[in-house]
Amino acid sequence: MARRFFSSASIQSPRIEISGSEAHHILHVLRLEVGDRVNLFDGTGVEYQARIDAISRQKVDCVIEDQQTVNRELGVEIHLGVALPKGDRSRWLIEKAVELGVHRVVPLECERSVVHMRSASISRLSKAVIEASKQCGRNQLMELGAPVSFFQWLEEAQGDALRLMAHPEEAGCPLHTIDACQTGETVKIAIGPEGGFSEAEVRAAVAHDWQLVTLGPRTLRVETAALAVVASISSWSRTGQ
Ligand code: SAH
Repeated sequence: MARRFFSSASIQSPRIEISGSEAHHILHVLRLEVGDRVNLFDGTGVEYQARIDAISRQKVDCVIEDQQTVNRELGVEIHLGVALPKGDRSRWLIEKAVELGVHRVVPLECERSVVHMRSASISRLSKAVIEASKQCGRNQLMELGAPVSFFQWLEEAQGDALRLMAHPEEAGCPLHTIDACQTGETVKIAIGPEGGFSEAEVRAAVAHDWQLVTLGPRTLRVETAALAVVASISSWSRTGQ
């Protein structure tokens, strides 16, 4: 999927002007020229084929030649609530969540959280969402929610078809025993911080009808646990087209 670029402005045929870091990439990294063809998306589910019509130092003016709605989303909406780890590990987690088709990531504030998301970190992660979407061909951007307390998220998740809390205890069901037929339209997944969920959080989740799932006898890092559950759920789900 070469030469795929994101337009933060919604694309209205027949022309679109690309500016900012995407224009910089086109002009000064790839050194594309007038007449070269590019693929564009704006996060609304449509893919555009365009030709570069004019360039200046910071802007690229494109003419739209063709467009199609292309759906590369999963058949199920995965909402991943996760106590994000530090720095680059969060970025990595977000990148892989985009590739695997997660619909929404919600940074969780848990009782044992040590990382507290600042708006600068959220905006850095939003850039990672765009970069990963360019690479993997998603035409809809994965949503990145504002940080929310775990207890509040539990309240908001009432009524969703499948709610899974990853918790490394024997009481949890192995993931493969969760019935794929239960998935319905939305699956919520909760992953705790390095210190784990507190007893109060686990009790509250169980009281809200969340299922505890175990991923085996090893303690996984936050991002490994998150992606193990997401990969398993996404493998049950048919991708749209
Ligand atoms: N010492 C902590 C480990 C936390 S690991 C504890 O005992 O809870 C960070 C998070 O990853 C956990 O809160 C859980 O959501 C998930 N996780 C890690 N290993 C897991 C496993 N083997 N089974 C289920 N969840 C796991």
